[in-house]
Amino acid sequence: MTHLPGEALSTASEADLAQAERFVAGEWLFVRGVPSLEFLPEADRAEVAFAGRSNVGKSSLINALVGQHGLARTSNTPGRTQELNFFRPPDQGAGRLLYLVDMPGYGFAKAPKHKVQVWTRLVKDYLRGRATLKRVFLLIDARHGLKPVDSEVMKLLNEAAVSFQIALTKVDKISATSREALHLSTMEALKAHPAAFPQVLLTSSTRGDGLPELRAVIAGFAA
Ligand code: GDP
Repeated sequence: MTHLPGEALSTASEADLAQAERFVAGEWLFVRGVPSLEFLPEADRAEVAFAGRSNVGKSSLINALVGQHGLARTSNTPGRTQELNFFRPPDQGAGRLLYLVDMPGYGFAKAPKHKVQVWTRLVKDYLRGRATLKRVFLLIDARHGLKPVDSEVMKLLNEAAVSFQIALTKVDKISATSREALHLSTMEALKAHPAAFPQVLLTSSTRGDGLPELRAVIAGFAA
């Protein structure tokens, strides 16, 4: 298999990729929105979470990942934006037990202070207290790269000792040269973060880049 410069080198085998396709197939279900920790579902399976600045392309990526338009709502949907939204695959058989968690977007330019506090509180408590949380995918818009607010979140993840992995989004919007440069600079920035998984995923929801690899990582956590 050949790779373009800057393309995520997949460690997944063909068999892993095929198994991951089967894993995401079918209609995913919205389990519940969690505005505070007492509403969390029972921690009886592994879970992976998606975090990122508002408008990073998080809803689009989750929807593209499971091939289901409208599963994750865009950040413009009132109400659900301040909650942890839990989803699960349809079939609960062996190898399909997992929660996928859509975390509330952060970094609104004009977010009122109390909103930021609510976000920080919920996310901090969740990250610290959830033993079944296997990985947080931290989404970064490829056009903007890491922003100070993303570094704050990485710090939070480090402090909570939660494994996180960067997924660049919207890579269709930048040139192959910029992708290569961004990939390298992001890898470099991760060296300061012990909780960072040392592989950056390059994704595009519109074009499909990186989705099979991301599916394979997620399917690998299902029991
Ligand atoms: P969220 O706020 O993080 O959930 O972001 P959305 O998924 O709502 O996406 C924000 C905007 O970016 C929308 O206009 C999407 O159409 C656009 N977008 C999301 N993913 C991609 C992508 O992979 N490529 C391109 N070109 N646009 C994208």
